[in-house]
Amino acid sequence: MTFDLSKIKNLILDMDGVLWHGDIPAPGLVHFFETLRELEIGFVLATNNATRIATQYTQKLARFGVAVPPELILTSAEATAGHLQRHYPEGATVFAVGEKGLHEALRSYGFTLLPDEGFVGQDARADVVVVGLSRFACWDQLASAAYLVQRGARFVGTNSDATFPSEVGPVAGAGALLAFVETASGATPELVGKPQRAMFDEALRRLGARPDNTAVVGDRLETDIVGGQAAGLHAILVLSGVTTEATLAGHPVQPEMVCADIGALAAALLAARREEVHGRAD
Ligand SMILES: [Mg+2]
Repeated sequence: MTFDLSKIKNLILDMDGVLWHGDIPAPGLVHFFETLRELEIGFVLATNNATRIATQYTQKLARFGVAVPPELILTSAEATAGHLQRHYPEGATVFAVGEKGLHEALRSYGFTLLPDEGFVGQDARADVVVVGLSRFACWDQLASAAYLVQRGARFVGTNSDATFPSEVGPVAGAGALLAFVETASGATPELVGKPQRAMFDEALRRLGARPDNTAVVGDRLETDIVGGQAAGLHAILVLSGVTTEATLAGHPVQPEMVCADIGALAAALLAARREEVHGRAD
């Protein structure tokens, strides 16, 4: 199967392992975004991290010399709020286990949040329970979430990542908190973040794009690449993050294109465009 990079008009970009490693920007980051703008390639940055709000990423990118407005940054918290907004009227009640990123996203999409201090009352009801990563979660919150699910609330998870990267290596992620509520309630959550389709659909909506001329760019086969392909998108793997050439070889999941990093991807995009223009002139 040949992959025609010149047909790609939109990118859904993963962040950690693609645009940066923790607090270190990827080499060529500024040039990469200049290239996208020069070629008029649309983009949305998408992360499963539900703890932060979009403006925090805007600030981080500004420190690296790149201007990206918050509306082009999609967290799994915002994707969850956007997904739920299409199914519930304004003011629907949500009990959320999460951090600032999740609470702000749900409020900004018009949901009413139930208080999360102490165990919810015996008669409490919620339309939806949303569980995302919270580094401050306690038994009262998790048990309240399970109780409300048992009493009929829809059970939604921002993302199911078992772990997330930290300075000391992988530590317990949103999936671990979901497992608590799952075990206690006996219910299975509906998931939004990568590799789920809802996250990619939300990114496409923001781009106003079709899947067939849009590619996901990521460093993780099991989330970025699998999820992107399942959502009908093209998939480009960069080897600047968690996936090595050795892992990729013989792996059942194969992207349509592999680049060393975003510097190599920028060069390939420019070359594809030059070839297209040249081809037309012939
Ligand atoms: Mg990544």
